[in-house]
Amino acid sequence: MKKILIILLLLTIFAIVSSASEITLNGVQRPQSAILFIVDGFGSSYYYPELTPFSLDGSELTKAHAPNLTFGTRIIDIKTSHPVTEIAHSVIVTGYSDANEEIVGYPDATIYDVAREHGFVNLAVMETGDFSNMRREQDIILFAENNSFNDPGISIQAKASPPGIFELMYDWKMKMPSYLNNVSGVRKYSAYNKWGIDAANAVANYMIKNHPNQKFLLTVNVGEIDGGGHNLGDDDYVRLIEDLDRDFYPLYKTASENNIALFLTADHGMSFATKNARRGGHSSDKYSSKIESLHIPLVILSPNAAPGVVSGEYRQEDIAPTLLSILDLPNHLQYADGKAIKIKDYASIFINADSKYTVSLWNGDRKLSESSDSELVFAGLPLNTSYTLKASGAEGIYEKHVSLDSDKQFNFKSSEAGINSNSRSIIAVILILIVVIAGIIIIKRIK
Ligand SMILES: [Zn+2]
Repeated sequence: MKKILIILLLLTIFAIVSSASEITLNGVQRPQSAILFIVDGFGSSYYYPELTPFSLDGSELTKAHAPNLTFGTRIIDIKTSHPVTEIAHSVIVTGYSDANEEIVGYPDATIYDVAREHGFVNLAVMETGDFSNMRREQDIILFAENNSFNDPGISIQAKASPPGIFELMYDWKMKMPSYLNNVSGVRKYSAYNKWGIDAANAVANYMIKNHPNQKFLLTVNVGEIDGGGHNLGDDDYVRLIEDLDRDFYPLYKTASENNIALFLTADHGMSFATKNARRGGHSSDKYSSKIESLHIPLVILSPNAAPGVVSGEYRQEDIAPTLLSILDLPNHLQYADGKAIKIKDYASIFINADSKYTVSLWNGDRKLSESSDSELVFAGLPLNTSYTLKASGAEGIYEKHVSLDSDKQFNFKSSEAGINSNSRSIIAVILILIVVIAGIIIIKRIK
């Protein structure tokens, strides 16, 4: 009973502390949830219409025909600085160019921390990139402990899974052998990838059907484009990409029909020494500076992003801030040095303020909106417009002028903000007392 009381107490405090006000000024079409689909070792050089892959000796290599992987908004030139699986995955989820597996575990370091803080549940199906801190960021993850075809050790790690997801993931763990039976060579690599895609698609559809109001961030990783690049040859590598193009489509359909943002990317690419080389690589000295190892795809489907190709040079660390911007979440990533790519068709202003301030948004002499809260969001603002933000309290008025070319963040925090002056704290104390009294009554009744 004590445990229940403590949980109730924490939930009450959490509900009070985490509440935020959002003011949507214009009708925005925002995705409810997101899928981050990471293909291990998938170089965009091998399928982007604008790029051509070459081997180390300068021979032009074959490209894949993969029209299903060029949907929506596509960033042409985006590179990783670290073509190494674990590091690159860490960069993707932290937005920090020097990230590593350890930093992923730090508080407020990842997209998962920000998403969770704003009511999302973090789900994952990962064949590679699932190191221990990555797994700990997830509420539930179905993952491959090894990538052995003969003995794929599939596990589930969970802390706060939405009802039914554990059982669903367990079913998918048991389905793995049926995917790999009676296939070999390229088809076996593709079957392994397809298992990950189908499992992720099942998770997304289960959430849509059974938890329609629960926002989720689903991270997916398929491992065997990389596996094929290392163990087969450049011709088979391209075949694997074409299989991925075919098998990926159902997940794309799920996202596009259910208002889910879809981010397709890779940790790093792949390089080959010669045409018809039987082995490729990306992280060793021989391959790690080759553009084919560094160019990664970034293809985004979202109702608030205009479709088309985006030119300009971008880095892998820009992915996390872009994902948060598309979901209209503040970029509270503690270590991020990447910047959101400007693909959203409106901007939002995120404000942290003391609740005793009244924050108002002005366009010239016209007051557009006004509110008081510890976290405020003015969403759906037209781009390339100028605004003035005013925060007024007992100590005076603070003003900030903003020219909106992208999302912005502001802090209006008074240093003397004492706990007694905060009306939230008083409400919190009253609610906590109610919870405690209710708990005592329940305990007495049970006795
Ligand atoms: Zn990798």
